[in-house]
Amino acid sequence: MTGPPPLHPGDGTAPTYGRLLLDHLLAGTPSGETPLTHVAEIPAREARYGDWPQWAPDPLVQAFRERGVDRPWSHQAEAAELAASGQHVVVSTGTASGKSLAYQLPVLGALAEDPHATALYLSPTKALGADQLKAVTELTSATDTLSTVCACAYDGDTSPEIRQWARRHSRWIFTNPDMLHLSLLPAHARWAHLWRRLRYVVVDECHAYRGVFGSHVALILRRVRRVARRYGADPVFVLASATTAEPGAAASRLIGAPCREVTEDGSPHGPRTVAMWEPPLLKDVTGEHGAPVRRAAGTEAGRLLADLVVEGARTLAFVRSRHGAELAAMGARRLLAEAAPDLVERVAAYRAGYLAEDRRELEAALSEGRLLGVASTNALELGVDIAGLDAVVVAGFPGTVASFWQQGGRAGRRGQGSLVVLVARDDPLDTYLVHHPQALLDRPVEATVTDPGNPYVLGPQLLCAASELPLSEDEVDEFGAREVLTDLADQGLIRRRPHGWFVAPGVEPHGDVEIRGGIGHQVAIVEADTGRMLGTVEAGRAPATVHPGAVHLHQGETFVVDELHLEDGIALVHAEDPEWSTSAREITDICCISVDEMHDHGAVTVASVSVEVSHRVVGYLRRLPSGEVLDQIILDMPEHTLPTRAVMYTIDPELLDRSGITAERVPGALHAAEHAAIGLLPLVATCDRWDIGGVSTDLHPDTGLPTVFVYDGQPGGAGFAERGFHRIARWLRATRDAVAACECAAGCPSCVYSPKCGNGNDPLDKAGAIVVLGAVLDAIEGSEPA
Ligand SMILES: [Zn+2]
Ligand SMILES: [Zn+2]
Repeated sequence: MTGPPPLHPGDGTAPTYGRLLLDHLLAGTPSGETPLTHVAEIPAREARYGDWPQWAPDPLVQAFRERGVDRPWSHQAEAAELAASGQHVVVSTGTASGKSLAYQLPVLGALAEDPHATALYLSPTKALGADQLKAVTELTSATDTLSTVCACAYDGDTSPEIRQWARRHSRWIFTNPDMLHLSLLPAHARWAHLWRRLRYVVVDECHAYRGVFGSHVALILRRVRRVARRYGADPVFVLASATTAEPGAAASRLIGAPCREVTEDGSPHGPRTVAMWEPPLLKDVTGEHGAPVRRAAGTEAGRLLADLVVEGARTLAFVRSRHGAELAAMGARRLLAEAAPDLVERVAAYRAGYLAEDRRELEAALSEGRLLGVASTNALELGVDIAGLDAVVVAGFPGTVASFWQQGGRAGRRGQGSLVVLVARDDPLDTYLVHHPQALLDRPVEATVTDPGNPYVLGPQLLCAASELPLSEDEVDEFGAREVLTDLADQGLIRRRPHGWFVAPGVEPHGDVEIRGGIGHQVAIVEADTGRMLGTVEAGRAPATVHPGAVHLHQGETFVVDELHLEDGIALVHAEDPEWSTSAREITDICCISVDEMHDHGAVTVASVSVEVSHRVVGYLRRLPSGEVLDQIILDMPEHTLPTRAVMYTIDPELLDRSGITAERVPGALHAAEHAAIGLLPLVATCDRWDIGGVSTDLHPDTGLPTVFVYDGQPGGAGFAERGFHRIARWLRATRDAVAACECAAGCPSCVYSPKCGNGNDPLDKAGAIVVLGAVLDAIEGSEPA
């Protein structure tokens, strides 16, 4: 760990605008606080241009020129050429690098050339789809040859009249995986005109398809290729992704066919200053078991936002929750009321759920400078066209390196410097990153993780495919579904006939598959007053997340659960925004079903295993934003079991003893190591810490040894634990370093305390965890060739 470099480079060059803004923030920091842990300068990048492709129709090129695009950037031209030559392609470049043009060009080129050709556009969110549709409509209405494209949205909000019209006339349907799954695929015969001449499928923001959702989408895209084939079409896929590692491999896995990648970003940006900022430990507030607590990232972000606005810098602050975003905006306004009252009205909060007009108004206000500062939830991350800001404050690492750059990439006016500040939350991963900035700055972003082979995803998806069109033996193999097919046949859900596999009469699989909600039986979350359905949660997770009294966040809005009826599959909630959050207390047991892969390192064994996890919720804690615990409330809930995948390691008790961990310290040391490891798994797998769970014990009945498990929170697994198994050395090294870097004495939420611990964070031994992780790493690395 090194200290921050001198603030002004001594080589005589003038400081960049980003550096000047950072100086200003430091000048406003209360004395005694040293929040800045690292500064990096990212040099400016010059634009690199390509040429308009030969095949691009002149009127289309003219329409782009009128919109200010004189020539395409190199990556746009390269991706468009690959697509037009019939190759699937993914373009993986930064925010605001004009990825849309890379697919608009080949798609509109094909639609202009062939008056019957069609295309599909898919986005993970409605807001993004709406913005992209607007842009395409502007292009087609400005071009005579494209006036028959009739691009049209087709989603849950589309009226029956428009749906009918779209089926007949639209040549470019803007939809999402959900509608494909529920409507366009099962009712393919009604969409024959679309399928027959389907030339392109655009998959926008494809890095959003990860985990179980991503696995579902991967199988939906295989269904798309199969149905199109039946109608005689063989569409080319054009995917757009944030910068991720191995985008070609991830995209190939997603669409089930080889995909080329374009990663050389030709768009220009000004120099960027990136600062790592760790709020101080609070002196007079303590959390669970008296552990120290840091100043909340949202509060700190509010202060930074105010200081930047005073400097006249257009600034966007990303905060994880709506409550946090509103607190940050309020905090900034309060500070401005004292320092610069005329600026108070130029700071606002933004949250998910805003209507499209509200979002556009906000975009306009920020880009015209009527608004100077906005605190937003991550809702803005996808699909809102705001770039060219002076500063971006990211309050809390947004979960993946890709998201961080997606947010930070909004800073940087053409040719001018800008500032990006990451403010650490009270959380082990954030702690690690602000003390090991190279893990964020010098590293290619993570690859997205999907597992289309998960039998809990594959089974229902295969049924959907078979109900759309009978499955041939070749297709069963293409889906990798031989084993799953046998299970479905044994259950009487699918039958072999002379022309392939058919679903049994009466089987209607589509409605039962929750592609976003995960797998299995769902509990609907319903607002009791209005009957509005807010969403669903898996039955298995319901006791821990929507138990009576639970505070439930939905797209940044806050609700409190009144009743949970598991047998009816419904949770009733009312809108309320209490100051506290809740976390369930539960008893968890885990048993190994089978060992899928194992590495023996002498005193340490590491394995990828299939497990069954059983949970019983026994109560919940109410906690203030400061981290302070109000009280604990007792609940009596039924037990639930989860079949899933886990990564585990065992340690010989003699090794623990030799390392100085006495028998009575073992449970606390393992428990602390487990918590921190859960917090750091997102570093090697594109998951959220809420997607995974853990169990540690000083004597596990299946292994007979001290054992730590980290498991996927979805039936059948989501690929995260498996990724942890394959990257265990890197993962556990980062875990140990994060715990060791934390300046607390005996553990805090920045290192070993977990907001979702079922045992109320007891026992926890921070020093013991560092020793245990060190011993495990020595064993792993000592027995492996370097
Ligand atoms: Zn700590
Ligand atoms: Zn715990």
